[in-house]
Amino acid sequence: MTIRQLRNYIDGRFEDGTSTFDKHNPVDGQRIAQVHEASREQVNRAIAAAHRALPAWAGLSVEARTDHLLALADGITRRFDDFLQAEIGDTGKPISWASKIDIPRGAANFRAFAELARTLDMESYMTDTPDGRQALNYAYRKPLGVVGVISPWNLPLLLLTWKVAPALAFGNTVIMKPSEVTPSTATLLAEVADQAGLPVGVLNLAHGFGPDSAGEFLTTHPDIDGITFTGESATGAAIMRAVAPGVKPVSFELGGKNAALVFADADFDAAVDGVTRSVFSNCGQVCLCTERVYVERPIYERFVAALAARARDMRIGWPLDPNTEMGPLVSREHREKVMSYFALAREEGATVVAGGGVPVFGDARDAGAYVQPTIWTGLKEDARCIKEEVFGPVCHVAPFDTEEEAIRLANDTRYGLAAAVWTQNLTRGHRVAQAMKVGLAWVNCWFLRDLRTPFGGSGLSGIGREGGRHSLHFYTEPTNVCIKL
Ligand code: NAD
Repeated sequence: MTIRQLRNYIDGRFEDGTSTFDKHNPVDGQRIAQVHEASREQVNRAIAAAHRALPAWAGLSVEARTDHLLALADGITRRFDDFLQAEIGDTGKPISWASKIDIPRGAANFRAFAELARTLDMESYMTDTPDGRQALNYAYRKPLGVVGVISPWNLPLLLLTWKVAPALAFGNTVIMKPSEVTPSTATLLAEVADQAGLPVGVLNLAHGFGPDSAGEFLTTHPDIDGITFTGESATGAAIMRAVAPGVKPVSFELGGKNAALVFADADFDAAVDGVTRSVFSNCGQVCLCTERVYVERPIYERFVAALAARARDMRIGWPLDPNTEMGPLVSREHREKVMSYFALAREEGATVVAGGGVPVFGDARDAGAYVQPTIWTGLKEDARCIKEEVFGPVCHVAPFDTEEEAIRLANDTRYGLAAAVWTQNLTRGHRVAQAMKVGLAWVNCWFLRDLRTPFGGSGLSGIGREGGRHSLHFYTEPTNVCIKL
């Protein structure tokens, strides 16, 4: 098997790093790539290149700039299989998921923000003046500048392009710092940009880790104009400290401890289906995944039994098998974290209704990072397993008696990202969704996304919103122009 070399892309050139690290796949632990870690000097050069490229890129007509974005989308689509194999190699996620979600949505991000940049209106007001005349105010928006994009490993291409696309669409230049755990598709994106003729310096790529590596070199650089970050809440706090001396704007999409509320009047089968997806998709490694399920008492026992049956029947397997529903976790290291919560749940008094361990295959996958889909009941609401994000294929199910109690339980968390409400009572659906202290509330669905809507969370789940015109607000600085008429 050939070991791929994953290089940095700086000022239009692919460059070796000054050191390298290995990337192993999580299916059978094999080494699949050697990653070239960017040095501080390389990150500095990437930032300098992005500054040189900025005036011309920001000065392009919207039409010309968005044509470049569409070329990136086409480039991803043309190399769909390369992207698919790379994403599966890095993460072990099932082809059924990666081929429908990660790669198509990666390309769709460029199309969506190209479209948005072409059609946006401008904020303006007519103002009465003391002399009986009027003034016209309009908010002229300029690019933020050179933006650092730091992304996680769970949806590597999708979450990277979710930030790169609007940054470029609104005239910024970019340094990408993908997760060290999933460096492959970012490298392919740099290749696509190179081949598509994106102007030199507009999009740069620096591989590496967080502390004392490319992540920190980026966030502490005085010439970075803003940082957009998706990842763990604790990392968000570290980045906030790093940018504080320069008072740099940040956009943070962080962790979650999301609730699903299932009312007795829900379409039972649809709710079981939906909650199964929201707990186990991508092996539970989506920030929007459900980890706390609250079920109205009359259907509680039946719901737990149905969910447990779905967990036990889940097809865990090779990612390239089209029938596989769940692959491994992203790495052995992450599995250690998830398994520590499996042990903690038992200590905290959980009943393990399904899973709770590691599947045994009797083949090469035993060297991978698989865990069983797991369901707990019986934990107290102040248990750490109820309060802390696990980020694996696991949830706790608890009963509730009243709507007020359900809302109180769901909101009793320092996170504030997502919730899903399952009910056939339309009024209740609106009422409970609006009462959720989250950025995203779904009713009778989950993970349904329109890229124009605000995306993000509050509390430990983040700062700010991206999506549609919310992305415009982060990636641009307005100058209000006031003209006396
Ligand atoms: P992570 O915070 O460990 O890493 C994310 C990125 O930050 C990586 O590129 C990493 O190298 C970099 N990084 C780490 N320390 C840094 C530092 N000190 N300075 C600069 N960069 C640093 O997150 P992860 O484990 O890759 O991703 C999983 C987490 O992401 C989960 O908590 C999940 O909930 C969250 N997430 C949130 C959303 C959302 O939209 N809210 C989406 C996906 C994932």
